[in-house]
Amino acid sequence: MSDNNHFDVIVIGSGISGLTCASLFARFFGKRVLVLERHFTAGGFTHSFRRDNRYEWDVGVHYVGEMDPASHYRVLFDAITDGVVKWQSMPEVYDRFVYPDFTFNVRSGMRRFREDLIRKFPEEREAIERYFRDLIATARWYGRLMLARLLPSQLQSLSRLFTAVGRSLGMMTTKDYLERNFVSPQLKAVLVSQWGNAGLPPAKSAFAVHAVIACHYFDGGYYPVGGAKTIAESIVPIIESSAGRLLTRRRVSRILLEKGRAVGVEAVTRARGQEIVERYTADKVVSSVGAYITYDQLVPKEFSLSFRPAVREFPQGTFHICVYLGLRESPEKLGFLGENCWIYGDYDHDAMFSQRGSVIDGKINGCFLSFPSLKNPATAGHTAELITFVDAESFKKWGTQPWGHRGDDYDAMKQRVADALVEFVDERFPGFAQLVDFCEVSTPLSTANFTGHREGCIYGLPGTPEKLAAPWLGTRTPIKNLFLTGSDTAGHGIVGALMGGVLTTLVASRNPLPVLRLLLKAHLRVRHPEKRDVVAEMNV
Ligand SMILES: Cc1cc2nc3c(=O)[nH]c(=O)nc-3n(C[C@H](O)[C@H](O)[C@H](O)COP(=O)(O)OP(=O)(O)OC[C@H]3O[C@@H](n4cnc5c(N)ncnc54)[C@H](O)[C@@H]3O)c2cc1C
Repeated sequence: MSDNNHFDVIVIGSGISGLTCASLFARFFGKRVLVLERHFTAGGFTHSFRRDNRYEWDVGVHYVGEMDPASHYRVLFDAITDGVVKWQSMPEVYDRFVYPDFTFNVRSGMRRFREDLIRKFPEEREAIERYFRDLIATARWYGRLMLARLLPSQLQSLSRLFTAVGRSLGMMTTKDYLERNFVSPQLKAVLVSQWGNAGLPPAKSAFAVHAVIACHYFDGGYYPVGGAKTIAESIVPIIESSAGRLLTRRRVSRILLEKGRAVGVEAVTRARGQEIVERYTADKVVSSVGAYITYDQLVPKEFSLSFRPAVREFPQGTFHICVYLGLRESPEKLGFLGENCWIYGDYDHDAMFSQRGSVIDGKINGCFLSFPSLKNPATAGHTAELITFVDAESFKKWGTQPWGHRGDDYDAMKQRVADALVEFVDERFPGFAQLVDFCEVSTPLSTANFTGHREGCIYGLPGTPEKLAAPWLGTRTPIKNLFLTGSDTAGHGIVGALMGGVLTTLVASRNPLPVLRLLLKAHLRVRHPEKRDVVAEMNV
């Protein structure tokens, strides 16, 4: 094998977590990194696509919190993209929760959000104030849990000590928290209206996961100027500047082991209609494709992993349908300013989630509506996205058919769901249907086809209390020189996966100083003044 095929680090998958590792290894350690991506486009859930040369959508980025220049996560983002990605702030009302009999507008700023809640539900003032304190304390607990997970296995007993205070709150379900603290069904519904950001309704999600996401958006939302594709576009030159490469259309089929150490990977690609197997070697391998694919499919079966059955049997994550719309005119015509809308037909989120199997029959009881074009000053055409959750079971009958050729009944089902979703929105925002000029629908089968995620699930392993307790889930693996990163190891969303990348680089590099320095710089960054005040208020 030529030396050209040997790298310092191989990263499997080019999502934000894998790109974060690749960028940090290249930029701060001068390492030659190879990123292998199975899709024909880099970026994972941060890739964008275009149709008709004017409509462009992102597949997994609608808003990112804590990107204001004073936020510590912004320091990390600027570090991995070399400051190339610019962030556009969303309007003051960045989320609208639309229920049959009322709409709640979420304004940026924790205080404003809290005051608006108290104004609408004055009889529950005390519980609302306690809720905000609990959110902040629990999000901090989650941070400690993630740090504790970085400890080597010999020190894991310390980790329980480190995370003992706050554990009972963090590990209860979000629904348990709501039932114990609130009375009004409307208030309980409002507080978890963003549950789609973690992909789990309140009866299933850990309160800690809910808390982290709620706190993440307190200061509003941000969107990458030029779309999410700018993230990969800014990182590839950094990788290449250290003689590294990012290769698309490379599906890693196994991790190569020698004497219990990871030494490289085998990847499958196609050329002139033929499958070709390529071998690459490296000093370290980082997998960003999730615990399930890594342990079940990539680590050879001959290598005994005591927790493999636990990984296989772990409940699956969430599945979605996305309707990508091109619009004839700006949605500003209907009064939208760039905010997201979470539209629900009921207050009971768990009951609505349990009916997701009926979505393919055109029965819609909730959806997320977002307008990429209103958030992106660099866009050409007007666009919207509609997302709703579905079950994987409903799609199994088309699962063996190839992408683009799944048959008339599959196409009819997609059209039925798209029509029903557009109608669901049009009933609340009359005139919406008339704006539609172009429509394309993705299902869990599309997600599975492009990302390889199990049955097309999104967000990795679901954010349940069981996930937080799983001892096998972490950056370190039982295999020397093999590390895990991504949503499964740190947290949900773009910033969760970014943190996964930062922490994995910290653990995997021999000299942690450059990453520690970066984390310290981020930590010292002045917090958003309002958030700082509320945190200080809470500490009194
Ligand atoms: C519909 C949707 C909306 C979202 N909206 C938001 C949002 O508004 N804000 C937010 O913060 N987060 C959002 N998210 C979540 C966010 O996009 C993800 O949490 C994050 O991008 C995950 O990054 P990752 O690196 O962990 O994984 P991924 O992006 O999934 O990257 C993994 C990569 O590995 C590749 N891969 C898999 N198997 C192999 C293999 N064998 N060989 C080679 N490559 C392989 C995949 O193709 C993929 O590119 C959304 C997600 C979805 C799906």
